[in-house]
Amino acid sequence: MASVSIEGVSKVFAGNVEAVRDLHLEIHDQEFLVLLGPSGCGKSTTLRLIAGLEEVTSGEIRIGDREVTHVAPKDRDIAMVFQNYALYPHMSVYKNMAFGLELRYGGNWFHRTWKRLTSPTEFAEVATKRRGIRDEVRQTAQVMEIEHLLDRMPRQLSGGERQRVALGRATVRHPAVFLFDEPLSNLDAKLRLEMRKELSKLHQRLETTMVYVTHDQTEAMTLGDRIVVMEGGEVRQIGTSMEVYDQPATKFVAGFIGSPPMNFVSGKLTRADDGMRFVSPGLEVSIPEEKEKQFTSGSDEVLLGIRPEDMTVQKHSTVQDHPNETLNFGDISLVEPLGDSTLLYVEIAGGSSQPKNGEITLISKADPRTKFEQGDRVALDIASEHLHLFDPESGQNLTMRG
Ligand code: ATP
Repeated sequence: MASVSIEGVSKVFAGNVEAVRDLHLEIHDQEFLVLLGPSGCGKSTTLRLIAGLEEVTSGEIRIGDREVTHVAPKDRDIAMVFQNYALYPHMSVYKNMAFGLELRYGGNWFHRTWKRLTSPTEFAEVATKRRGIRDEVRQTAQVMEIEHLLDRMPRQLSGGERQRVALGRATVRHPAVFLFDEPLSNLDAKLRLEMRKELSKLHQRLETTMVYVTHDQTEAMTLGDRIVVMEGGEVRQIGTSMEVYDQPATKFVAGFIGSPPMNFVSGKLTRADDGMRFVSPGLEVSIPEEKEKQFTSGSDEVLLGIRPEDMTVQKHSTVQDHPNETLNFGDISLVEPLGDSTLLYVEIAGGSSQPKNGEITLISKADPRTKFEQGDRVALDIASEHLHLFDPESGQNLTMRG
């Protein structure tokens, strides 16, 4: 068990590729921390730097209270599980799991013979530990439900079984920190779901610090105590699943987390006696007082962000008897039934009931039992208490709660 501290770490590869820039991270003891971001954002490099598989260009890494910046991977007390399992193909499952422990307790036959001749007491200690390896492997195999596979070779296993063995091999060593690099991405959707549950249980059982790299936001949201969202080698936000979802620090985070992603519309803020309004050619929304108070910008040019589940639609026919000029209207251009919900793609049509340019498409997550069809004219109801306003240039969220 250990914390991991990354202080001002940068990594520049040959050809001046800056993969990680001035990274500061405090990973708590026993925490499940997920590094999330798009391909190339530097998450694997960060993990490899913690593992010692890459040398830092600058900065410092500590595991527990030990500085490990230049310590070899095998001496960092970490275990790493990769996407491609990396099992030794010529060794049985048992041997794969026992190998690391055997190496630790006495190395190969030559080393042991040498020890027997030069230091009988040390040799006796090693021999006792080596006898414990079999029990250790069997116990772990039982927990991971792979006991029946111990005599098989890796080529005789399914993808899910191989990943279970890889996890078993990592846990048998009782490392201070587990590092996972997209360990589930080779598995099919059903197996991924199962393994996700297994990983959560494993974390609860082992109470060990885990750092997990993924580009899959569902994995990140369900597994992580905290999520680190990365972009271009830098951290954009660190927070719990709900913090990064509900209070995204930037437009990038808001757009990356959530499926389908947040809707964005660029426009202007206007101020009148009855309060602040967001106005764009296709959309008008009055800004709730609470949001207005949070708003922190001099500029009136903004990007409005609203999640698909915070925008509901009603059939135009049900609202046209009660004309209300603050309502926004649009036309459904696509209906995507997902089973538990239906996605409605709405071309927004301006602040009146007449369609204007229909240039912007907003996605609304609707109740699947409400029937809509392509071409339906609809009125949009925006839950303005959940909207966000972003700076169009820096992407900063201008309505973050302090
Ligand atoms: P992915 O999800 O695709 O694995 P990632 O977020 O894990 O992406 P990294 O593998 O950390 O990204 O790579 C970050 C950047 O560093 C990328 O631009 C990548 O091309 C570059 N990079 C990674 N390894 C090397 C290397 N050995 N030599 C040169 N550039 C590298």
